[in-house]
Amino acid sequence: MKLSTRIQNIEQPATIAMTQKARELRQQGKDVISLSIGEPDFDTPDFIKEAAIQAIHENYSHYTPVSGYPELKEAIVNKFKRDNNLDYKPSQIVVSTGAKQSIYNVFQSIINEGDEVIIPVPYWITYADIVKLSGGKPVLVETTIENDFKPTLESLENAISAKSKAMIFSSPCNPSGSVYSKSELHEIAKFAAKHDLIILSDEIYEHIVYEEKAISIASFPEAFDRTVTINGLSKAYAMTGWRIGFIGAPEWIAKACDNMQSQVTSGTNSIAQRAAIAALNSDLSEIQYMIDAFAKRREKVLEWINEIPGFKIKEPKGAFYMFPDVSDWFGKTIKGKTIQNSDDLANFLLEEVYVSTVAGSAFGLNNCLRFSYAASLDQLEEAMKRIKTVLS
Ligand code: PMP
Repeated sequence: MKLSTRIQNIEQPATIAMTQKARELRQQGKDVISLSIGEPDFDTPDFIKEAAIQAIHENYSHYTPVSGYPELKEAIVNKFKRDNNLDYKPSQIVVSTGAKQSIYNVFQSIINEGDEVIIPVPYWITYADIVKLSGGKPVLVETTIENDFKPTLESLENAISAKSKAMIFSSPCNPSGSVYSKSELHEIAKFAAKHDLIILSDEIYEHIVYEEKAISIASFPEAFDRTVTINGLSKAYAMTGWRIGFIGAPEWIAKACDNMQSQVTSGTNSIAQRAAIAALNSDLSEIQYMIDAFAKRREKVLEWINEIPGFKIKEPKGAFYMFPDVSDWFGKTIKGKTIQNSDDLANFLLEEVYVSTVAGSAFGLNNCLRFSYAASLDQLEEAMKRIKTVLS
């Protein structure tokens, strides 16, 4: 009796593994500060919870349409128009059980065995594993901290082969916090058109930005008919556990995702969908308090990280992560422990000062370490103080 090679080829995300390890230490009574998980520390806003409670009373308890309630799809169409300058029809929208399932649906729908998907490094852990689960091959494109962790056109061109099928990236980026500018996105749009690639644009952090607004690549005419715009409510609305993600896509891809999902999960949870309607139809000012809090933390954490010896940081423009280059520590011995790579440093910080982070290797970039600043200012200050002390 044996598991399939498919499942043996994928790994549990390091973010989840690290969070689990932190939880175990906490259960042993250790004062652990967890900066490894990618979710807001806020509760879902009350008006969204009220909409869910009302939905329960109104008996939204039956199977839902596979691609989502029509009212939710309408709210998503309006959201795309309001926030992204995108004109999708309801037939181009598919609601799923989190953006993670949205991405899974798309890759299952477009990838044949051996097809290649271009993924700039660092990338959200799950992209590469879903590509592999779909029979595809991730083609990783290196970036540098100097280039704000964005690929150059030349490096993208070098990644092209006869098997190239798609490209996926996030802006704002998890883990680097980079936000692609209008001209950078335009370059990628032209590049994708030149090589007939499908673009998966993961915009789940779009509202969590600190300088310029994030732009949707599908708003470029070259890109609209070849782009799947991925989004969801987990991050901006503090709704990670509700599991609502969605896509705006060319109709043929949306239809395929609908088919795919109909055999796997069917339509998404009814109560969560009703809550999502209230969330998306509300004014964006309703969630501004969370973004303001992230902005304040970003400023402070940047200051504190800059004081830690051997950490080089590029100011993140979006999301809620810091991704310093910590490679100055590689090859050094601290408290009798030799640090060879980012995994060693992440483990060292957890074991010695009880701060959980995620090694950059999990995102394809061993030189870095990811800190989530979706934690209180007090916790963040204490965590940074502990790290600075042990590394000084
Ligand atoms: N994309 C990125 C870049 C993410 O960081 C995450 C969550 N960690 C997701 C997608 C998945 O979000 P969801 O909760 O909607 O599945």
